[in-house]
Amino acid sequence: MEQPPAPGRIGQYGNGVVLDHGLPVEERVARVAEWWDADSRDGRWLVTGKAYFLLRCWLLARAGALPSGVGGYAADYAAACLSVNGGEPGWDRALRARLSCPGCGDGYRAENMRICVTCADYTCCSCEPDTHARECEVVG
Ligand SMILES: [Zn+2]
Ligand SMILES: [Zn+2]
Repeated sequence: MEQPPAPGRIGQYGNGVVLDHGLPVEERVARVAEWWDADSRDGRWLVTGKAYFLLRCWLLARAGALPSGVGGYAADYAAACLSVNGGEPGWDRALRARLSCPGCGDGYRAENMRICVTCADYTCCSCEPDTHARECEVVG
């Protein structure tokens, strides 16, 4: 007998869109927010883990102001993502979690780590100049 489809997971679609480093970050965020809205604001389009870290740090780097070209639903989208990631207490917990730097392999707390939104990867401050090009946008 055929299995029923697995229930949707938060981030199932959204994480892939936001971490798709083939596209400019503005476009990724605009798309994912639009698709989320068009799909009855389904939680599968929201982001978790590294994708949420990227989104949050990128927005914080702009002091919450959305660059032009980012769709009209992006602020609602960011609020919905914050909510499924445990709100502000969840963000504080996430910042204390340990991550390992893909460049040197050393472990750091997330709050001491940065993320390149262009490459969609974490980096520590020491590795940043060597592993990310001048065109990269590193935030966090
Ligand atoms: Zn490193
Ligand atoms: Zn980079």
